[in-house]
Amino acid sequence: MHQPMFSIEVFPPKRNAPVGTIYDTLDGLQGLNPDFISVTYGTGKSSDRTATARIANTIRKEYDIPAVAHLTAQYTTREQVDEALDMFRQAGVSAVLALRGDPVPDREPAGAFEHASDLVAYIREHDQDMTIFGACYPECHPQASDLDEDISNLKIKVDAGASHLISQLFYDNADFYHFLDKARAAGIDVPIEAGIMPVTNAKQIRRMVRMCSSRVPLPLEALLDKWGDDPKTLKQAGVIYASNQIADLVAHGVDGVHLYSMNKPAVTRQIWHNVEDLFLPGQTGTDFA
Ligand code: FAD
Repeated sequence: MHQPMFSIEVFPPKRNAPVGTIYDTLDGLQGLNPDFISVTYGTGKSSDRTATARIANTIRKEYDIPAVAHLTAQYTTREQVDEALDMFRQAGVSAVLALRGDPVPDREPAGAFEHASDLVAYIREHDQDMTIFGACYPECHPQASDLDEDISNLKIKVDAGASHLISQLFYDNADFYHFLDKARAAGIDVPIEAGIMPVTNAKQIRRMVRMCSSRVPLPLEALLDKWGDDPKTLKQAGVIYASNQIADLVAHGVDGVHLYSMNKPAVTRQIWHNVEDLFLPGQTGTDFA
């Protein structure tokens, strides 16, 4: 029987935040033994381009967990991609999540990579050993005209060399299953992990779902209505909601679950405590480290 993967996303601390805060996050995740931890990549002008590689290195060396480094394409030149890949290799990171990145108002794209698939093809051409991940969108990427169009674009990314996909957050598993059926029917046969973002703060979730054009299904709307002004109770309800989503996903045989930790290890731990018996981490045959 196939074992679902379990992975976690963290982000580098903001430039003006003490760099040690990432250790608090990683220490807080100790003992969970996910199949990998992925580290986001900032697109902002003030983002520190070396942070992702440094944190991925720490995850691998000090915590002994495989790391996946995110890399965005749109505002990045070929030289900067080469530099980033060099940094990742030196850090012993052998898996990259290749992304386009979100458009930044008033900022001119660098022109080298229009879509994530262009970055995937470039990495595949220049580094045959790198495992390449890509992003996908169960509710359709906001810039695509419909899910069918988005999935044919996703197929280009997979054909270019993405061998593992991680989904955007969603709050109704039916949306994920619908997307999965369509992706498989379109010939996308790589593992697809379901992205789960726990609800811990009503304002933040409303902002995220607006940004991602995601739906808030009625059961989640009820939680936000009832406990939106009671952060402590909402957090507990959010942990239960995410745990139920994960149990249902595993029961449906998904390839894996990717938890957006938001650098809140206590919430991640609580969810893991609820669902860990459904997984056998470290036994899923991930072939990168
Ligand atoms: P693409 O795959 O390029 O898709 C973007 C749009 O272009 C879609 O509408 C798609 O249908 C269309 N498209 C794609 N290929 C083609 C093609 N060949 N021809 C025509 N149209 C095409 N952002 C960050 O800045 N840093 C991060 O670390 C980060 N991590 C993320 C992790 C995950 C798991 C996810 C789901 C998103 C992440 N994002 C991150 C956000 C991501 O950068 C945005 O969602 C962005 O708008 C799209 O990136 P993409 O790689 O999916 O783009």
